[in-house]
Amino acid sequence: MITVEDIQKYRAYLGYLNKKLGEIFEEQSPYIFCKAGCSSCCEKGEFPFTEIEFAYLMLGVQSLDKKTLSKIEENMQKIKTDKKQCTDKKFLHACPFLINKKCSLYDYRGIICRSHGVAFFSKDKKLLVPACVDEGLNYSNVYDFEKQIISDEKYRLSGIKQEPLAHNVGVHYLTKNEMTEAIGLDFGEIKPMCEWFITEI
Ligand code: SF4
Repeated sequence: MITVEDIQKYRAYLGYLNKKLGEIFEEQSPYIFCKAGCSSCCEKGEFPFTEIEFAYLMLGVQSLDKKTLSKIEENMQKIKTDKKQCTDKKFLHACPFLINKKCSLYDYRGIICRSHGVAFFSKDKKLLVPACVDEGLNYSNVYDFEKQIISDEKYRLSGIKQEPLAHNVGVHYLTKNEMTEAIGLDFGEIKPMCEWFITEI
């Protein structure tokens, strides 16, 4: 059960996190091709959300107009039907809050939505780049597609001063670290977004 106090702590943490992520995106800007109108990262995924992130997203829903709400509900129903028919191990879908290629709950979006786009370390310490590299987007200017790694040679030839660096911005780290512990912020269970809303509709 998420309390008002939990939401206050989460908001305070988001203030800290937005600043930190802003600095990382700025540092990695030669490799970032995110721009208005691109919603590639919201179009296909599992979107892992913790309990508190989903509760905050639902707070945002209260501020939406009827037309937007009805579109979201329609999107959720479709996802629910598709999930029943899915035989793959992982069920990937478009985020139901994505409307006309824009996030309808931008200020309330989750941590994965805020951190996605920069190179990161996985839970098992592998250096990964965002999937949109395959669409010629983030890190594609220094990526070796055959070996599936950032290429030192391409970096040298690019003439870019700033190195392409991975940061500790995996969702598991960002939801449990020294800062969350210092402010006593417990994110609760983490699961794919659709598992949260399928129980709600
Ligand atoms: S909540 Fe918004 S930013 Fe996050 S995946 Fe959905 S549409 Fe994209």
